[in-house]
Amino acid sequence: MSLDGCSIEKNKIDCPCTYSGCPRAGACCECIKYHRAKDQLPACYFTPEQEKTYNRSIEYFIECRTK
Ligand code: SF4
Repeated sequence: MSLDGCSIEKNKIDCPCTYSGCPRAGACCECIKYHRAKDQLPACYFTPEQEKTYNRSIEYFIECRTK
């Protein structure tokens, strides 16, 4: 796999995050780093309904997956 084609603009097309104004939008490596440092997961781990809560905690992720 080549990462030569990795681009922020291409990533933004698939990014499900609705938090506008985030400086990490499309920069998946920075997104993971930011949320991991807070014991969280990025938006793409959640369904659209869950994502809209902006609750990115691991606890919320587990709660959603065990319902
Ligand atoms: S998931 Fe978090 S870091 Fe990633 S684009 Fe959304 S608000 Fe920004």
